[in-house]
Amino acid sequence: MKIIMLGAPGAGKGTQAKRIAEKFAIPHISTGDIFRANIKNGTELGKKAKGYMDQGLLVPDELVVDLVVDRIKQDDCEKGYILDGFPRTIPQAEALDAALSAISEKVDYAVNVEVPDSDIVDRMSGRRACLNCGATYHIVNIPTKVEGICDVCGSEIVLREDDKPETVLKRLEVYHNQTQPLIDYYSKQGILKEVDGRKTMSDTFEDILKILN
Ligand SMILES: [Zn+2]
Repeated sequence: MKIIMLGAPGAGKGTQAKRIAEKFAIPHISTGDIFRANIKNGTELGKKAKGYMDQGLLVPDELVVDLVVDRIKQDDCEKGYILDGFPRTIPQAEALDAALSAISEKVDYAVNVEVPDSDIVDRMSGRRACLNCGATYHIVNIPTKVEGICDVCGSEIVLREDDKPETVLKRLEVYHNQTQPLIDYYSKQGILKEVDGRKTMSDTFEDILKILN
């Protein structure tokens, strides 16, 4: 079971990826985690990646692919894995396919968690954060006991810059420009599965299970 997760920032892709990984007892592989692990362990690939990151540069596609392929060759990936945050671009997707076919493997499903931009903007603009203690809330889903005041430390809670509609919309635009070609790519391969991410986390998860079973 080799799965790629696609979905906009704020669509709940990461949460679903974790639940799938738990359910099927396969590793949840995020590029951020791989980078951190390789840098921490001082591997050759990690050193190379750190070199780019220290200069504020994006880690090049080939290196990202090397890191991911190195990870999925490990023993715990024998039964499958779920890739979260990779591939992000067509060159990355092609490089992944090439690397997998070299070891006679292929991606089984690309699961796209679909949430309309307007819903994502609504979700994010309901978030509140305490800048003093770091606690996070949501005006509908996780309200504070006293409106506008952090439960933990009593400070005022705010809408972070990152969660403001204009910031979210900008991020979504970048996402769509990058990801639409990927959606087409996996659709042509016949492995794209779309799920409705507007439902509750649990209902969306049930839909994903139906697809994977
Ligand atoms: Zn607080």
